[in-house]
Amino acid sequence: MATMEYKCPNCGGPLSFNPDKQMFSCQYCLSDFQPQQIQAMYAQNEQSETYDEKEIKAQERRAARGEGDGDDLVGYTCPSCGAEVVTTATTAATNCFYCQSPVVLGSRLSDAFKPDRVVPFALSKDKAVETFLKLCGKKKFLPAGFTSKKQVEKMQGVYFPYWYLDEQLSGALTARGKKERSWTQGNRRYTETTIFRLFRAGDMQIMNVFERALKSNSREMLQSVHPFDLSKAQPFAMSYLSGFSAEKRDIEQAEAAPILDERIKGYAEQLLKDTINGYQGVTTESFNHKVFNKRWNYTLLPVWIVTYKFNGEILPYAINGQTGKIYGSLPVAMGKLVLWAAIIAILVFIVCLLGGMLFA
Ligand SMILES: [Zn+2]
Ligand SMILES: [Zn+2]
Repeated sequence: MATMEYKCPNCGGPLSFNPDKQMFSCQYCLSDFQPQQIQAMYAQNEQSETYDEKEIKAQERRAARGEGDGDDLVGYTCPSCGAEVVTTATTAATNCFYCQSPVVLGSRLSDAFKPDRVVPFALSKDKAVETFLKLCGKKKFLPAGFTSKKQVEKMQGVYFPYWYLDEQLSGALTARGKKERSWTQGNRRYTETTIFRLFRAGDMQIMNVFERALKSNSREMLQSVHPFDLSKAQPFAMSYLSGFSAEKRDIEQAEAAPILDERIKGYAEQLLKDTINGYQGVTTESFNHKVFNKRWNYTLLPVWIVTYKFNGEILPYAINGQTGKIYGSLPVAMGKLVLWAAIIAILVFIVCLLGGMLFA
C-alpha cells in the first residue's frame, strides 16, 4: 500500500492541516505553511508514490462488478515508525495507532478514485468538542461518562465522500388549473368554473444536488449534516487530508445517477409549476425534460464524528466540519431518570404525609 506523509520543511515533524489558520501547521516547531507551498513541494511525490497500479486495477475491477470493498481489512506499514497498521478497505487517510503520525493512503484516492474537490475543515477539534458539550449541557439524565474527557477526546475528523451532480436541462410542463367566479342575481347564486390547460417550458440549471458515496455509514447521518458552503471548496489535493481520516467511496457514479436524476427531474417540474400563479387546484398532466449538460463532482466533505456505545447500540454524532451543525440524539440514562422519579415520588409522599398530618 502506497502511503504519503507530509513533513515540516523546517524540522521534519509531521504536518497536519490546521482548520483555524487554514494552513499547514507543525506541532513540533510550531511553523505554519500555506497549502500552495505544501502542494507544490509534494506534487511529484504524490504522483509517483501513490501510483500503485495493482491496487488501482483491483479497485476498478471491484467497482465494475459493483462490489465495493466491503469490510476487508488492509494492512500498510507506517512510514514514521514502521508499525504494521490495519485499516478498513475504504480508509484513505488515518493516524497511525502507535505513533499517531498522520498518514494518507494515497493510492486509495488516485486515478479513477481521485476526488474532484474537497471542502477543507474550518472547525477545529476544540470548537467541535465545545459544540458537542454545549448540546449536552442542555440535557439532564445523560449517562455517566457521556461528556467525559476520555469520551470527547475520541472525536475524529473525517472526510466523507459524496457525489454531486449539476444538470442543465429544458423542461415542458402541461397542467390543469381552474378559476371560479360567483355572483348573485335575484335570489339565485351563480358559480362559473373555467378550466384551463396550462403550458410552461424553460431551460434550467440545477446545481449541487448530492448523495452520499459511502454505504457503510448511516445515510441519515451523512445527509443530515448538510448544508456545506461549496464556494469554499478547493480542487482536490491529498495534503488536505493530513491529520484527518478520510473515506473512499464504495458507491459508484452509475449507482448514484438514477437517484440524482430523479431528484433533479422533481426539482425541475416544481420550478415550472411554481411559475403558475392565479389558478386553483393546479395538477400536472405531463412533464417532459431533456438533459443537455451534466457535470459530476466527486467531493470530500469535512465532518467531526464521535460515537457512544449505549445499551448495546452505537449512537453516532456528527458535526459539520465547516458550520458546526450537529446531528444525533442524546441518550437518556433510565437509571438517572428513575432515580429522579423516585425522589419526586418520595417528596410528593412526604408532602402528602405532611398534608395528611396537618389536616388530620
Ligand atoms: Zn517543524
Ligand atoms: Zn507509526
